[in-house]
Amino acid sequence: NKQVFLADYVSGFPEESNLYLTTSSIKLKVPEDQSGKDAVLLKNLYLSCDPFMRGRMQRDLPPDRPELSSYSLGSPIVGFGVGRVVDSRHSDFKKGDLVWGSTIGWEEYSLIPNPEDLFKINHTDDIPLSYYTGILGMPGMTAYFCFFDIGSPKEGDRVYVSAASGAIGQLVGQFAKLIGCYVVGSAGSKEKVELLKTKFGYDDAFNYKEEHDLDAALKRCFPEGIDIYFDNVGGKMLDAVLVNMRLHGRIAVCGMISQYNLEQPESVQNLSAVFYKQIRMEGFAVYEHYHRYSKFLDFVLPCIKEGKIVYVEDITEGLERGPAALVGLFSGRNVGKQVVKVAQE
Ligand code: NDP
Repeated sequence: NKQVFLADYVSGFPEESNLYLTTSSIKLKVPEDQSGKDAVLLKNLYLSCDPFMRGRMQRDLPPDRPELSSYSLGSPIVGFGVGRVVDSRHSDFKKGDLVWGSTIGWEEYSLIPNPEDLFKINHTDDIPLSYYTGILGMPGMTAYFCFFDIGSPKEGDRVYVSAASGAIGQLVGQFAKLIGCYVVGSAGSKEKVELLKTKFGYDDAFNYKEEHDLDAALKRCFPEGIDIYFDNVGGKMLDAVLVNMRLHGRIAVCGMISQYNLEQPESVQNLSAVFYKQIRMEGFAVYEHYHRYSKFLDFVLPCIKEGKIVYVEDITEGLERGPAALVGLFSGRNVGKQVVKVAQE
């Protein structure tokens, strides 16, 4: 059983050398004793690379993240993924079932002692299984509920999305277009900016790495200001956005990836805009919304089938390439949703 372990706890930017691959033997059966009661054994097919995994790589987690725990150095790292049940002692799961969930080890086979958190995959016809790490999984739900619940979008709203070509951003832009918003995205390369405009239907896009003055870039794209900011990055971008928000604007704070690797978070200077412009700024945590998963599927599956929403994935082949793919999220190496393919379906 090939497995990926954390070599040591990380501070600053994670590097490929912070993770290593090793091989151990595993019995392809759920233990028959008490330890295997209600457990399932999965053959892992796809693993998801997600920014929150950086948090779990550090020893001391901030007290405001009670839902996260540090990875143990003695077990493979864990995250979202898709697998096939190869053995089960749980009455809800049988051999051959396809599942996705958040407790899947970075390894070829995972024994899941408490499979209650796994979702069974029922919709596979013509839909890539890897989508359950992205559009049909956690990032999809995040994009949908964070944008609609907090953004309260309506036709004609001017919407700005940062990290706009990623797992979540590409969906937010498309959801906003579906209801008739004007949508601009930013991303970190020319290729990604092209993708935003040609594939995801963004009205305009810019490469934030090439803009010396973010305020000027936002004024160019939004001469009349921004109604909804979907924030994936925080930091300097958030500061620049605050002064470009319209009266009664909404800021959906989905993530702050620009801050995750900093020893000292950057301070935000322009918070007074929240007060002056009566902005509603609200954070979002997807783990509080899993009970709404079927509602989300009811919306998104027809969108995919009717071609109203597209999804771009960046699939890395092989567990041994997983570490590079995972740390690549923090340099923008991924184009679209970063997935690691572990085995053939
Ligand atoms: P992405 O697929 O967008 O990958 C991360 C991207 O972030 C990179 O490709 C890169 O794109 C961009 N990025 C990396 N470092 C920086 C930086 N310093 N400044 C600006 N951009 C940077 O990831 P996701 O779509 O999965 O996640 C997007 C955000 O949503 C993250 O902040 C994540 O933590 C958050 N999130 C929040 C959840 C919630 O419940 N609130 C749930 C899941 C994710 P580029 O080339 O454009 O720079």
